[in-house]
Amino acid sequence: MARVFWFRRDLRLQDNIALNTAIHGAKQDGDAQVCGLYVVNTDDFHALSGIRQWSLYESLDSLGASMDRKLTIQHYGKTLGIGEAVAKVASAAGAKTVHATRAFDPAGIAEQNAVGLALKEIGVFLQLDDSYYAVAPGTVQKPDGTPYRVYTPFFNNWFKAGWSAPVALAEGFEWFEPIQCHGKPDPSKAAPFKVKAGEAFALRTWKRFQDRALFNYDELRNRADLSGTSHLSHALAFGEIHPRTILAELADSAGHNVYRKEIAWREFYADVLWHNQHTAHDYYEPRFKRMRYDTGSEAEAKLSSWQQGKTGFPMVDAGMRQLLTTGWMHNRVRMIVASFLVKDLHLEWQQGAAWFEANLSDFDPASNAHGWQWTAGCGTDASPYYRVFNPVMQGYKFDPDGNYVRNYIPELSHIEGKAVHEPWLLVDGLAKGYPAPIVDHSKEREESLRRLEEIKVHK
Ligand code: FAD
Repeated sequence: MARVFWFRRDLRLQDNIALNTAIHGAKQDGDAQVCGLYVVNTDDFHALSGIRQWSLYESLDSLGASMDRKLTIQHYGKTLGIGEAVAKVASAAGAKTVHATRAFDPAGIAEQNAVGLALKEIGVFLQLDDSYYAVAPGTVQKPDGTPYRVYTPFFNNWFKAGWSAPVALAEGFEWFEPIQCHGKPDPSKAAPFKVKAGEAFALRTWKRFQDRALFNYDELRNRADLSGTSHLSHALAFGEIHPRTILAELADSAGHNVYRKEIAWREFYADVLWHNQHTAHDYYEPRFKRMRYDTGSEAEAKLSSWQQGKTGFPMVDAGMRQLLTTGWMHNRVRMIVASFLVKDLHLEWQQGAAWFEANLSDFDPASNAHGWQWTAGCGTDASPYYRVFNPVMQGYKFDPDGNYVRNYIPELSHIEGKAVHEPWLLVDGLAKGYPAPIVDHSKEREESLRRLEEIKVHK
C-alpha cells in the first residue's frame, strides 16, 4: 500500500511541503512507499505551441531523472477524465490517500474537485496541502476581513504575514515502481531551440541571477535590451522552484527589495483571482465590458499583424517576435504590446491574453489575466485607462540603442542606433520589407479616450 503524490504545478522535490506530507504519511503507514504521479491531458498538450510542449517535456524528464525514473505518467483526455486517471493509479498502488499541492485558480480548482470526487467513489481521500505561493491566496486580508484591491497595502500585509523556511526533501522512503505508465507525452511540434527546464536548471538559473544581476535589479529590470531580470517565470509557473526558496535568500538592499516586490505581484494576482474567479477571462471592472471594441475582418487583420509582429511599430513587433521565437517576453514589452492591442487597435484584452497563453512558456492564469487587465486599465489597482503607452517613446526609453529591436527584427538590422525605433523617417528604413505603421498612434490614442468617455457617461 503506497501513498500517491500527484505532481501538478510543483514539478520539484525540494521545498515541496505537500510531497513531504505524503512521505511522512507513507512512513506512518509502515511501508514508506510513495507513488509519484503526473497526469497530462494529451488533447490539450498537442494544442500547445512547440516551445510549451518541449518545456513540459523537459520539466517532466528532469523530474523523472531525479526520481530514478520512477515517475508514473498517466494520460487523460476525451475518453478518460482526470478524476478517473488519478483514481486508476490510486487503485493500482493500493493507496488510501492521494496527496497534492492545493491550487487556487479556476482550472486547478476544477481539477482537484474532479479528482476528489472520483477518489471518494473508490474510498480514497484526496489530501491537499500548501500552495504554489509563499503566502496562500486568501490569507492576507484587510482588517475588516475583505480582500485587498490595491497592491501596496497587500504587499505590506503579505510581508508581515511571512512564510516558512524552505524544507528539504524528507528522507527514509522509496519511490513506488511506475504503474500503467504511458510515459512523457511526445511533443508533436518542433521548438526553435533546445528548451531547458526542470528543478536543477531552475536552481542554477536562480544562483546565476544572484551573481549576475540581482544586486542592480532595481536599476536594470526595465531595460528590454539587457538581461536584467531573473528569467525564473517558467520555473515558478511550473513549480520547479518555490517562491519560499527564493525569498529565503533575499537580503535588505535596493535590488533585493524590488525583486521581493515582483515576487509579491505574482502572489497579489493569485489572491485577486482566488477572490474573483470570473476574472480569469472576464473583466474585473465590469464597466469596461461595455466599452466599444472593434470586431470584423479589419479588426481580425490587425490582430493577426499584432500576433505575427508586423504592426510597423518596432518595439511592439520585437516583443511579439520575442514571444514567438523564445516563448518569453520582457515585462516592460509585455505592457507595451498589451497597451497597443487594447488602446491602439481597440481589441479586447482577452484576445491578447489568449495569444499569450498559447505561446508563453511561463503562462500563469493569474499573472496573465491580471497583467493584461492592469495594462488595459480594467483590473485591480490598474494603470488608469487614460495612460496610453506611446510605443515609440517606450522604445527610446527602454531600448535606448535599438539593440533589442534589431535582435528580433532582421528587416531593421541595417539601421544603426536608436533610429531603428522610427524607421519610416529614414530613406531606406523600410527598404528590407518592414511594414509601415498599421495605425496612427496619436489618432488611436484620441479614439481610445473618446471610448473611455462613453463608458463614463453610462456609469
Ligand atoms: P523577474 O523580473 O525576474 O521577476 C521575478 C518573478 O516575479 C517572475 O518570474 C514572476 O514570477 C514574478 N513577477 C515579476 N513581475 C510580475 C508581474 N508584473 N506580475 C506578476 N508576477 C510578476 N508572468 C507570468 O509568470 N506568467 C504570465 O502568464 C504573465 N503574463 C503577463 C501578461 C502581461 C500583459 C503582463 C504585463 C505581465 C505578465 N506577466 C506574466 C508578468 C511578468 O511579465 C513576468 O512574470 C516576467 O516578465 C517574467 O520574467 P522574469 O522571470 O525574468 O521576471
